[in-house]
Amino acid sequence: MKPLPLRQTELDSLLQKIHLHVNSAPRRGQVATYIPALASVDANKFGLAVATLDGNVSSVGDAAEPFSIQSISKLFALVLACKTIGSDLWIRVDRMPSSNQFNSLIELEIESGKPRNPFVNAGALVVSDCLSSRFVQMESAVVHLIRELTGNPEINYDRAVAASEMAVAHRNMAAAYLMKSFSNFANPVDQVLKAYCAQCAIRSSCIDLARGALFLANRGVCPSTKKVVISPTQTHQVCSLMTSSGTYESSGETSFTIGLPVKSGVGGGLLGIIPGYGAICAWSPSLDQSGTSVAGLDALQQFVAETDCSVFL
Ligand code: GLN
Repeated sequence: MKPLPLRQTELDSLLQKIHLHVNSAPRRGQVATYIPALASVDANKFGLAVATLDGNVSSVGDAAEPFSIQSISKLFALVLACKTIGSDLWIRVDRMPSSNQFNSLIELEIESGKPRNPFVNAGALVVSDCLSSRFVQMESAVVHLIRELTGNPEINYDRAVAASEMAVAHRNMAAAYLMKSFSNFANPVDQVLKAYCAQCAIRSSCIDLARGALFLANRGVCPSTKKVVISPTQTHQVCSLMTSSGTYESSGETSFTIGLPVKSGVGGGLLGIIPGYGAICAWSPSLDQSGTSVAGLDALQQFVAETDCSVFL
């Protein structure tokens, strides 16, 4: 075990070691199939990237290959909502963990249409609804934010993946209508759902996502441009939500085994924040029951164990 910061060569060899370990482990989990366009992704892909506040990036495997970021987009949508709506957002969505699946409707009915947190689908739909009241095309606003944060103007959403999810978005639509029945949904459901599916269909790589999340390790300031993205308090709030709800019902377990603020997506991405140091992003499409990348969890757990960088130490 060697605490951070590591020299670039040490970081490179640690990532190579993790890559070897992940490749030699038996592959567990399942690729997401409920969004038809995601079912054909190669389960053997694996990428890992670490970006540091001093501007270095270390990566292995398929870290430069764009993948469907899915719920990792909810993190950037939340950041945009913090910037544009501020604390009023919390009138419409809570900050509590949930022990149900990300697309569950159970609590939503019992709790009068106020979603548990901005990362479960219902909560992310409320965020999309809020953003749809501010932006003509909220999905483009999220794409612009990610382009700005990563410095990559090529980032966009995949229309085929967005359309494929929209065609089977019955459960998300049900959540939106349920919230509408409780007066917690302002815009037409169809319109917000379309924007939400487009936002989830954004494609980006481990390298871009690790770079793009650096402001969360830097009290809300983008280290390359020095621009304030969100305030230190909002950074604390976003990272706290990532810790309590970033991998949904398995967040407690993730916090126990990894100990970093993280956000998962059913495309197989897993993005983690190492406050004061940098960000780490893994991609491997096979998922566990909570929709979290199995090899991604493994990679982040190894990285933390080898560098002692849990936020709880
Ligand atoms: N677009 C997906 C959905 O709404 C995102 C889920 C996820 O990545 N956990 O179901």
